[in-house]
Amino acid sequence: MKLLWFVLAALALPAQPISRSLNDINWMQFQELIPSKIETILIPVGTMEAHGVINNGADNTAPEAIVKAIAEPLNAVYAPVLPYGVTGALAPYAGGFSIKESHYRAFLTDVLEGWAGHGFKNLIIVNGHGGPQTAILESIATDVGSRLRVRVMVINWWSLASDLTKEIFGEDGGHAGWNETAYVQAVDPKLVDAKRYSDDLATARPAPSTWFAYPFPSSIILYQPKQGYVRFDTDKAERYRKAVNERIRSLIADTVAKWDKAKIFRD
Ligand SMILES: [Zn+2]
Repeated sequence: MKLLWFVLAALALPAQPISRSLNDINWMQFQELIPSKIETILIPVGTMEAHGVINNGADNTAPEAIVKAIAEPLNAVYAPVLPYGVTGALAPYAGGFSIKESHYRAFLTDVLEGWAGHGFKNLIIVNGHGGPQTAILESIATDVGSRLRVRVMVINWWSLASDLTKEIFGEDGGHAGWNETAYVQAVDPKLVDAKRYSDDLATARPAPSTWFAYPFPSSIILYQPKQGYVRFDTDKAERYRKAVNERIRSLIADTVAKWDKAKIFRD
């Protein structure tokens, strides 16, 4: 009787892997968990690109921190970050570069197919980098999802959090603006080189069809004129990080619940 109770209790418990990082578990642990107990994989992607006074890998730092924070409550695991991406007009700055779109598409498609082949049903890409990369990710998601009959989602964290940016900082943000700098500051203050900051490091994003420059003249790009200058407020940074993580967690939970309810690709 006691044994039966233990067996039933163990079956009722959510999966508890030694780590939610797929870098950290071995093949036997993987086999026990996926897909019988865990169907969702979080895949952080970013790029190498200048970011004002934060690290060139900020677009990797943020999605990596996000997936670490939300994997357990979502009963998900997370893949290693894909740290190279399609960079765009900031690629010429020191320490940045871009992967050719055709190579990026082919490589990321293979990555998604690889994980789908192991039985993950929900492939959630948490993207840290905008520009040309966002549309490319959406097109890869559609291609892989339709061919392999898996559910693929792409989340651009800074856009999804745009209302939280306005709420917490009282204004809109920018690329390497207050919002993105704050998220990185909350993850690791050492990555913020505050003493080098000045407002004239920032340029507002041009209105559509007004002007274009390659390379872009600043690595801090404000979404709106005179908003998003960096102010290094530790409390706001921490509040922002928590709010962003929760926003992303709840969007993924809702989306997976809706996919399940609709029995999408459940055959
Ligand atoms: Zn960025």
